Amino acid sequence: MPPPPTALDDFNARMSACERCSRLREHCTNIAAVRRRAYSEWEYWGRPVPSFGDPHARILILGLAPGAHGSNRTGRPFTGDGSGDFLYPVLHQAGLASQPKATSRDDGMRLSDLWICSVVRCAPPGNKPTPEELRNCAPWLDEEMALLTDLRVVVCLGRIAFDGVLAWARRAEILKSRAGYDFAHGAEFQLPNGLRVIASYHPSLQNTNTGKLTRPMFLSIFKRAKVLANAADRARARSAKSTFNARNKSAK
Ligand code: SF4
Repeated sequence: MPPPPTALDDFNARMSACERCSRLREHCTNIAAVRRRAYSEWEYWGRPVPSFGDPHARILILGLAPGAHGSNRTGRPFTGDGSGDFLYPVLHQAGLASQPKATSRDDGMRLSDLWICSVVRCAPPGNKPTPEELRNCAPWLDEEMALLTDLRVVVCLGRIAFDGVLAWARRAEILKSRAGYDFAHGAEFQLPNGLRVIASYHPSLQNTNTGKLTRPMFLSIFKRAKVLANAADRARARSAKSTFNARNKSAK
């Protein structure tokens, strides 16, 4: 029997019916109608792409936006394009994905301790959302972050995703100013609420084909994310223990 739907399932269902950005909705619908010749037999997803993963994840991958013939076709983040062909083998090697190959929503892929979403949920022309489209989509990220209650680490793929998580932290009144939070591959930050942020180059073909982002570089990002998630858990356990001890002491 399938598990009962979670709040994140409900979130995905509502988000994938969103029509807030007319330019993006029209673009995705057109791509789904015209299709690329290699995928002429596919029924393209063509809607906002649902987030994917383990609802109890401690690690979040925040991407930029769906690929026109990748997730806009398959309906799952990073599935069916060059970025996904680079990402999932690394996630598998890091122990976060059940298999190295992502081809469709029905390929059996399971993520463990990992959730994947993006700052814009509809494929933008030229992979470039407008500032207005980024703003339109921000409330979905706000809602999703509130539902990911076990989150410890956010891995931002690219500068726009990095800016997106900082903008979320400001809207959530976690961060007053983003001064000192500068994007660089491998840069790590801790937000005032304890959430860790790791910046990474995006696994776009432009970065991976040129060697700007290599597989060892990318793997070390996710190994580090796991180390930070475990360290955050230990810090929370220590803090809970000292609170418990302090309460016991004052009760005596
Ligand atoms: S990009 Fe976001 S806000 Fe815009 S239509 Fe898609 S889901 Fe809605």
